[in-house]
This record gives sequence, structure tokens and C-alpha cells, in this order.
Amino acid sequence: MAKRDYYEVLEIERSASVDEIKSAYRKLALQYHPDRNAGDKTAEERFKELGEAYEVLKDPQKRQAYDQFGHAGVDPSAGAGAYGGMGFDLSDALRAFMRDFGGFGDMFGAEGGMGGRRPDRRGGDRQIRLELTLREVASGAKKKVRVRKFVRCGTCAGAGTTSQSGSDTCTTCGGSGQIRRVQRSFFGQMVNVTVCGTCRGEGSIVRDPCTTCGGDGRVEGNETVEVSIPAGVMEGNYMTLRGLGDAGVRNGAAGDLIVIFVEKPDSVFERHGEDVLCDLPIHPHQAVLGDKVEVPTLDGKARVEIPPGIQSGKILRLRGKGIPSLRDKTPGDQLIRVVVVIPTKLSAEQKTLYESLAQATGDKPPKFAKGFFEKVRDAFTGS
Ligand SMILES: [Zn+2]
Ligand SMILES: [Zn+2]
Repeated sequence: MAKRDYYEVLEIERSASVDEIKSAYRKLALQYHPDRNAGDKTAEERFKELGEAYEVLKDPQKRQAYDQFGHAGVDPSAGAGAYGGMGFDLSDALRAFMRDFGGFGDMFGAEGGMGGRRPDRRGGDRQIRLELTLREVASGAKKKVRVRKFVRCGTCAGAGTTSQSGSDTCTTCGGSGQIRRVQRSFFGQMVNVTVCGTCRGEGSIVRDPCTTCGGDGRVEGNETVEVSIPAGVMEGNYMTLRGLGDAGVRNGAAGDLIVIFVEKPDSVFERHGEDVLCDLPIHPHQAVLGDKVEVPTLDGKARVEIPPGIQSGKILRLRGKGIPSLRDKTPGDQLIRVVVVIPTKLSAEQKTLYESLAQATGDKPPKFAKGFFEKVRDAFTGS
């Protein structure tokens, strides 16, 4: 069975923060935990699937590999093993759950809801689309892009205030930053903890907020970011640049910048995976007699030999002149489709020559070269 997308498994956006990943995992893992679904094989499969997705996505390095290469980037059977050989079994899944969330019991006890943690000052994630030419895709590129986002406030250096007058304890929550409510439910006593709305979980309120940023420690602005694009990316591939999204509130952690690649159409080449295809117009006499001609490639020019008797539509192959594979850098090929162009305007001399050619050829109709259409098809399937 094909592996499901990890983000889909955890029911989260591709831009989800670590906290969102954790929260989504916790919610679903609790729902499908074997202790609560004794003997239910479907729930067990789901629980294992969740554990595996969580193990990859919570780890920034593994996540990046997954974001770039999909399952192949983190799949043990593909060599870059995340779990040292074997797949993710039930005991792995249980261990992953225990490690981050402790026992099952306290999930419904003192810890309560997800609202009980420190205030989230983390900045939001930003998404940009970055256009690349086929040549940039083939060689890899470094590009500078201007990103509109929240940047740290220069007036207060992100602190939210420039004065020394300090802050007052929030009277709504008494300084804890949280509002706690005890509820009784099926699972026993539940403590529902939410972030205090008055102080946004800070526990205190700045007496003298910065007038530039209103106390947030960040303002809307621009930043120029350099993006290194590896060779071989495809339309829709994206990169997550950690910490280059919105600045956090009052020097909180910055969000991420997600760069989505968009391929600009090329006037000469058409991309087919790692191969590129271009047309080569030739004269009838070149097709008949053969020739050596120059063709454009992604990195300059190359000479190709047209064998005598070539048919229109025939594909010539320049090995290694395509786009490198994102995974192992092996380049694809350049496919050159020969197009015999029939002249529509002839000089008097050409006309005479064609007439004598016609006489020499006679009345017999021509025959298709054997396997002509099959060869065209084969060029695209790589055989
Ligand atoms: Zn400020
Ligand atoms: Zn408060």
C-alpha cells in the first residue's frame, strides 16, 4: 500500500508550526491509542501511521528532507533511513507517544488542554512563489527575494517598550497568563486551561508601550532573503526556510518562510521530468544526406550528427544534457526532435533541381521507415 502523505496523516497544513504538529498528533494519537481501541486493527494502523508521521515532522532535519524528497527522503528502504532499517512498528509508535506525552493517565488529568503553555509569541509563517527559468532549474541558483512580513521594531529592538518603567501584573489572570477552569467529564476531572485574553498569556502588561509598534515589538516591513535553490527542483516543490517568516511578538521566535518554486516556460525547451525536449528544424537535403549541426543546450551549444536518411519526428538524444535529478544529481538527457521543413518558397534554381529530382525518383510512392512511430514513443518512455 502506498504511504500516505505525513501532513495528510496528521491533518495539518504543510506550513504547520512545531506546536501545531504536536497538538495535531496528540489529539489524533489519543483518539487511536491502542489502550482505547483494544483489538481494533484499523485504529492500530492509524496509530502507527501517526507515530511515524510525527517522528519525521517534529524533527526539523527530517522534515526538511521529507519536504524536499517526500517519503524517499526519510524512508529507511531508500537508504537515508530515519529509523535504522525497519519500518515503524507498534512499539516504536508507543515509544514515540510515551516519550513526548508521558503516560496516558496524565493526558486527562492535570495537564489539561493545549492552552496551558507559555504564550505563543512565535511569528507566523510566510509563503512566497519564486519563478525559475529552466536554466536556473538545471544549474541550481541563488536568488535574492524581497519578502513583505513583520520585522523586528527598530525603535524598541523588539522589546515592545523603550522605557524602564516596567510592567504591571495582569489583574485578569493574576500573572499566570492562564485562565483555568475545572470541568467534570466522562474521563474524570478535567482542567481546562486557556490563554488569558487581557495579557495574551504574558502575565503582565507593559506600562509604557513603544509608540512605533504599539508594544508588539514588530512592525510590517520588507526583508531581502537569499534563497539557494538546488538543481533539479520541480514546479510545486518548496523549501522551508526556518526563522525567515514573520518576526515573533516581542522578540519571540520567528516563523518560517516557505518558498514555492514556479517554473517559467522556456521558449526552446520543454521539460519532461529530468529530460528536456527541443525541436531541430532541418532541410530535406540534410535529412537525406545527413549533416552535422549545432544545437542549443541548457549550458551552451553542442554539435549533433544527423545520420543520412533521418525521418521527420525522429528523436536524437544528447546524454547528460538534461536536468540533474534532485536526489542524486544524475542528469537527464536532451531529446532533439528532428523536424524536416518542406520549403514553401523556392528559387528558380531550386525549382529546377527539385524537378530533375522528381524525374530521377519516378512514380513509385515512398514507404514509411519500419518502426517509425514506435521509435517516437520509445524516446519518451526512456527505452
Ligand atoms: Zn517598538
Ligand atoms: Zn492576564
